[in-house]
Amino acid sequence: MKKIAVYPGSFDPITNGHLDIIERVSDHFDQVIILVTSSSQKSSLFTIEERIRLIEKSIKRNKKIKVDQFDGLTVDYMKKAKAKVILRGLRAVVDFEYELTLASMNKRLSPKIETMLVFASPELYYVSSRGVKEIAMNRGKLTGLVPSHVEKALKERLDYVVKKSPKS
Ligand code: ADP
Repeated sequence: MKKIAVYPGSFDPITNGHLDIIERVSDHFDQVIILVTSSSQKSSLFTIEERIRLIEKSIKRNKKIKVDQFDGLTVDYMKKAKAKVILRGLRAVVDFEYELTLASMNKRLSPKIETMLVFASPELYYVSSRGVKEIAMNRGKLTGLVPSHVEKALKERLDYVVKKSPKS
C-alpha cells in the first residue's frame, strides 16, 4: 500500500518554513499531499486558487508532492485519499497546545489516522504566514522567508489592498 501523508493548512501564503517540512518529510513517504483548507476562523489574503498556484510554483515538478483543496474535515479527506498520516509542523511551544488539541480531536474522529509532528528547522522556526504578511505590509525584506514568486505576489496584493482602502 502506498504511504501517503497529508499536510493540511491555510498556506496563506506558503513559506520556506512549510517548504522545509515538505522537503524533509517527502523522502519518508510515497506521496505528500499539501491540502489547502479554508479556515472558518481566519480571513485570508489569497484565495484558495491563488494559494494553490503559489504552492505549485514552489514545489516545481516533484512527482511525489501533490496539492489539493478541501472544505470539510481533514479526516474525511484522508479517507477519500486513502491516507493514514496527517503531517503538521511544530515551531515553538506556543504551537504545541494547538497541535495537541487538533491531533486529539482527529484521533477521536478517526482512531486509525496518526498525526505526525515535525520540528521546524532551527533557522526557520520563527517563520509564519502571518509574520511574512506583516513584513510585506510594512515593506520589509522577505528574502529567505518565502520563495521569490511568493514575495512578488505578496507585494502586488498588499499594494492593491492599500490603494483600495479609503484614507481615514
Ligand atoms: P494552519 O492555519 O492550519 O495553522 P498554517 O498554514 O499556518 O496552517 O500551517 C500549517 C502547518 O505548518 C502547521 O502545523 C504549522 O505549525 C506548520 N508550520 C508553519 N510554519 C512553519 C515553519 N516555519 N516551520 C515548521 N512548521 C511550520
